[in-house]
Amino acid sequence: MAEKFVRPRAAELDRSGEYGWDILEALKSYRLTGIWIPEEYGGQGAGVLDICLVVEQLSRACGGIGVAYAVNASARSDRPRRHPEQKQKYLPPIAAGTALIAFGLSEKASGSDAGSLRTTAIRDGSDFILNGHKKWNTNGAVASTFTVYALTDPDKGMRGISAFIVEKGTPGFSVGKREDTMGIRTVPVNELDFVDCRVPESQVVGGKEGGGFRNAMMTLDRARPGVAAQALGLAQGGLEWALRYASERRQFGQTVMSHQAIQFMLADMATQVEAARQLVYTSARAIDAGVKNINKIAAMAKVFATDTAMKVTTDAVQLFGGYGYCRDYPIEKYMRDAKITQIYEGTNQVQRLVIGRALTRELKELTGHLDVTVEHFPDFTPAANPTEE
Ligand SMILES: Cc1cc2nc3c(=O)[nH]c(=O)nc-3n(C[C@H](O)[C@H](O)[C@H](O)COP(=O)(O)OP(=O)(O)OC[C@H]3O[C@@H](n4cnc5c(N)ncnc54)[C@H](O)[C@@H]3O)c2cc1C
Repeated sequence: MAEKFVRPRAAELDRSGEYGWDILEALKSYRLTGIWIPEEYGGQGAGVLDICLVVEQLSRACGGIGVAYAVNASARSDRPRRHPEQKQKYLPPIAAGTALIAFGLSEKASGSDAGSLRTTAIRDGSDFILNGHKKWNTNGAVASTFTVYALTDPDKGMRGISAFIVEKGTPGFSVGKREDTMGIRTVPVNELDFVDCRVPESQVVGGKEGGGFRNAMMTLDRARPGVAAQALGLAQGGLEWALRYASERRQFGQTVMSHQAIQFMLADMATQVEAARQLVYTSARAIDAGVKNINKIAAMAKVFATDTAMKVTTDAVQLFGGYGYCRDYPIEKYMRDAKITQIYEGTNQVQRLVIGRALTRELKELTGHLDVTVEHFPDFTPAANPTEE
């Protein structure tokens, strides 16, 4: 499907910034939209590993299409799965591919420190009134259903955050400026504005006020293998282009691939891609198996696969020489698309904080005592896989 429908459109979608509606139609016809949704709601009951395999293949052809798909799958770990009325209302259209979703956590002044968000949702009878501004909403201009994080109890800080489902067209809610991004240009990334936007309490994600920040952290933990799979697909795709070019381009009377220095580069690139693949699949399998405390392995997969994507696609540009630096060839797009994977879904510095935090916790459990001060960083390690709660 990716070879037939995505690859031929990748360069044009990157140039025009147009959303790949035709690709969404193809995804629908292959029954790939919402594969993670339980069968009773129109999906296929697939797991995180299945999502990763789809995202990897889409991203191998176009990183923007890969993330457009992955962002819809991020709702897999969201609370509506566990709230019967919300499941009934929202899951079937996502499964059918008629509803696209977006995830609104970040704000202008609240990025890595997501718990410092300022958007408010103040109770008014059985409704909440949302006011504030969200930044960086992937799918913003095309989504119909938004998960929005806001303070329902500002005095409690991050423990006073709740998550809301906000539908496109709700009075007081508007999709704002589109970012002019370096890569993933087919997918719109927008600001969101809320001015006295009234949302009924039935739209509180999971039906529970106050658990929003924990919900966000759990969603991110479970969505990280998806971003890692996007990076893996980009790295694999970049490697394939580099192999093809190096085996055709001739310098000094032979293909550049015949030079041992180039073979060593390709060998390292292929090894890194395969190592990333094993970590991505392992993290996805761990989530599917209901392993406890998956935040460390998910962060490891994200950090390793995305650093690999950046390195491999940069080396692939190098192997194309001057042609790699020009838009006539497909490879520079891989490098631009790869860069964002190190930034969103928690930057790679933040992933290393998560891994370091988990190591500290494990060591403390082993020894009962540890003389290490861990930098302040919110730790909301879930007790168990939410799919089992
Ligand atoms: C194209 C794009 C799409 C996005 N899509 C979404 C989306 O759909 N939904 C959403 O909610 N958000 C989205 N984001 C936001 C993204 O998750 C944030 O940009 C990211 O979390 C980083 O936040 P920031 O940009 O404010 O950087 P900052 O948090 O300001 O970080 C700046 C730098 O400081 C580093 N840093 C910060 N804190 C620490 C620390 N404690 N220790 C070490 N280093 C640190 C960071 O790693 C980074 O290098 C998107 C962003 C982009 C660019």
